[in-house]
Amino acid sequence: MTTPQRYIAHLDLDSFFVSVEVVNNPFLKGQAVIVGGSKDRGVVTTCSYEARKFGVRSAMPMRKAMQLCPHAILVQGTRGEYSRFSRWVTDIIAAKAPLFEKASIDEFYIDLTGMDKYFDPFRWTIDLRNEIIDQTKLPISFGLATNKMIAKIATDEAKPNGYLFVQPGMEKEFLAPLPVNKFSGVGDSLHQRLNAMGIITIKDLSETPLPILEKQIGKYGVDLWKKSQGIHDGIVQPYHEAKSISTEHTFETNQTDENFLLSELVRMTEKIAFDLRRDQKLAGCIAVKIRYPDFETTSKQISIDYTMRDDELIPVAIGLFHQLYDKRQPIRLLGIRLSELTSHVLQGSLFANIGKKDELYKAIDDVKNKFGKTALQKARTVKPKK
Ligand SMILES: [Mg+2]
Repeated sequence: MTTPQRYIAHLDLDSFFVSVEVVNNPFLKGQAVIVGGSKDRGVVTTCSYEARKFGVRSAMPMRKAMQLCPHAILVQGTRGEYSRFSRWVTDIIAAKAPLFEKASIDEFYIDLTGMDKYFDPFRWTIDLRNEIIDQTKLPISFGLATNKMIAKIATDEAKPNGYLFVQPGMEKEFLAPLPVNKFSGVGDSLHQRLNAMGIITIKDLSETPLPILEKQIGKYGVDLWKKSQGIHDGIVQPYHEAKSISTEHTFETNQTDENFLLSELVRMTEKIAFDLRRDQKLAGCIAVKIRYPDFETTSKQISIDYTMRDDELIPVAIGLFHQLYDKRQPIRLLGIRLSELTSHVLQGSLFANIGKKDELYKAIDDVKNKFGKTALQKARTVKPKK
């Protein structure tokens, strides 16, 4: 039996946050719009294509962006709306796709391998894209190819608001004229080094003898050469399977002290929020579990705006605990779980980089990384309010 032809679609919403703002405030349409922090101290989270024409880029200090594009309309961003639209698009894809991965808040891979027996994968993805646009009014681009890497680069080439199918066997031809920094992982300094070696395009890279790349660039040179041949074997990771982090604690003696239980809950939430940030993830769902001495187990979960922040997770966890907790019984086990995890890519910086809190978390996480997780606990953990 021959292995079936692989087909992977990569879908990516175009300048997602800006597009959501435009759907909600149509007067922003066609304007130079910047989503980000404050004018003097913030950074650009994302911007519209009209602002990009003036050289504005993600992660640029807002002050510089406003110099480049003084007439830009500055939007602070509405995080709850981004979560809502992200879920909406996810639901449309989940209803149709056989197997999909939510790679970030606005980015998806769909594995259509073997489906070409039943339908035309290209036509199918066009229809899906149309449905997403019809329902949400958000512009979205896609690339369809025989592996994830080519599909993602194809999306990039198709933007804004377009699509591209790299047919089986055309991978090398598609990549050949593109600059080498189209590969993720080729940052500015590596790009310069490659250029200095006379490697400008991916074709140049694919024709460079492997030993030379290995000698000059090291092991990553070998990876790059493989990529330049159009080879990539990453698999599409199913969204809901095994995509959660959790912790639970069985008490040595059954507990009745509500203050103690709440402080445990806070401590456990902080622990998994730390894991979440370490893994560069956002969570969209939180669950609390309680087990009583007779082993009766009860749990409750709730969808939340995508977050990686303790101060947003803790109140929800406490709320769930109060909904579940039967005061007449002691508690044997307490557990907490975060799911609907998705990657926290640069664009998601709005999900954490608001004000100084993020710097504080980073400082705390650095200490935890250095000395172990229990080295530093906020006062609240030790002594819960009320
Ligand atoms: Mg996007």
